[in-house]
Amino acid sequence: MAVAAVADPSVLAMAQEAGGGAADFTDFLDGTGDELVLAGRPLSWWTDTFDLPLQVSSGKQLRANLRGFLDVFKAHYPKGEVRFAGKADTHPTIFKLIGEEGAGIDVASPYEMKAALEAGIPGHLLDLNGNAKDDGVIEAAIAHDMLIVIDSIPELERVATLAAAAQKTPRALLRLSGYDLGAVTASAIFTAGLWTKFGINIDEIPALLPRLKDMPVRVLGFHTHIGSQITDLNAYLAVLGKMLELGALLKEEGHAFEIVNIGGGYPVSYLTEAEWDTLVTRIRDGFIAAKNGDPSKIWLWDNAVGALGMEPDGMPGKTWQGELFWAKYPKEKMLEAILLGEVTVNGATMKTLDALAGAGTPTLVVEPGRSIVGDAGMTFLRTAFVKQIAGIHPMLAMEMGVVFYAEAIVGLPAMKWAVATEPNRRDPEPFDTFVAGNLCFNADMLSRLKVSLQRKPVRGDILMIAATGAYSPTFFAANANSFPRPARILVEADGSWSYTHRRDTYDEIFSLGGT
Ligand SMILES: *Cc1c(COP(=O)(O)O)cnc(C)c1O
Repeated sequence: MAVAAVADPSVLAMAQEAGGGAADFTDFLDGTGDELVLAGRPLSWWTDTFDLPLQVSSGKQLRANLRGFLDVFKAHYPKGEVRFAGKADTHPTIFKLIGEEGAGIDVASPYEMKAALEAGIPGHLLDLNGNAKDDGVIEAAIAHDMLIVIDSIPELERVATLAAAAQKTPRALLRLSGYDLGAVTASAIFTAGLWTKFGINIDEIPALLPRLKDMPVRVLGFHTHIGSQITDLNAYLAVLGKMLELGALLKEEGHAFEIVNIGGGYPVSYLTEAEWDTLVTRIRDGFIAAKNGDPSKIWLWDNAVGALGMEPDGMPGKTWQGELFWAKYPKEKMLEAILLGEVTVNGATMKTLDALAGAGTPTLVVEPGRSIVGDAGMTFLRTAFVKQIAGIHPMLAMEMGVVFYAEAIVGLPAMKWAVATEPNRRDPEPFDTFVAGNLCFNADMLSRLKVSLQRKPVRGDILMIAATGAYSPTFFAANANSFPRPARILVEADGSWSYTHRRDTYDEIFSLGGT
């Protein structure tokens, strides 16, 4: 039964698998008893102390993920550096931990920058990204010797003006887009194609390079962030090959080519390949069965087909054309595959390592976000009601809105869910259900895919969503319907915990009291 793992009663096994098998939660999660034990404390302690919903991240796993990337560089390309994409989990405490492991931070706002500086990360280990940087943030980057990732030609001109005023020559990269990468990932998170708000189109670079010599900006190379959850190795190889070509042009113009930054996007394998195949088959079979008069097997909300293309016969095809929640090369394995793969530079295909050597061994920078924090975090939320929709389909109404679950906003999440209350109790058959949030708008769906739970939950039961440490519930968190943003907790290996967000109070939501 291919779905067994999805409905595995072992909450521990689920969390372990959710990172592609590489996570180690053995001393973090214990689901063997009547009550789940999390970082040495029973679940009731956590809910009494922090209320629900609640997000808890393992510092140990976060560090292990980061070391994974650093170790790949050590083994294959010592001139590699990591800049954690700060937006994936923003807090000075998180940034401090990243700094302790030897990485810098990619920041994209004044407060992300401030948090990184307050965490003690030196300016030269900070990269400034963003497509609409204000003068203040550019000036601060110049003052702190950060690397400025330039998003547009007007921005380059503005940086030059501000650099001249400060009598400095800041280090910079040119961020590129306009690649034809096809359907490598979901469009909402594909940031290097033609229709993206990010970057300078690669076709404009040859004409731009001769202008650099007149500017007080040291352009050291190029940057491309393809997008998030990039499971296609070829997308990275294509982008890297192109940037190495442009690096040669940069040198021809008399500049050094010191840095090539291939961005973030290293995927988390939220499901196993077999689970993913089962899921896609269920979406397809459910659609076809419904068309043939049996709606009971519908697996995707409203009998949609997700990223399955439609065949001429009006039925979905078998190939998924969007974001994958299974990854052949999860996390740092993708970086390793890039380094051990082949790139094409000016029509010649060669080993990546040879191509980098041929380009003068530039520093290779990666900006992982999701792959560092994603499988380190888990979300707990309470069941309000179990109801039915469309007459036959179970749907849970949960006490948490979609704004705390970014995956459900930007894509079609296929995370692993489990009942965390009495984690060992299970029904003979898994309980397959849609999941809705508690906000007053119809798009507030936590899972448009049926999730398989080990039993039918009842009101009050706490559910756990594994591998929700990235972006959720940080990036889109809002006080929609005046619900407080949940507490987020970082637990270190010694069991000590700290807030990365304290649950909002009534006064905070409405800016009452205080000064
Ligand atoms: C968001 C972002 C990243 C991180 O992407 P992940 O998919 O979380 O690894 C890296 N670089 C830039 C410029 C980004 O905007």
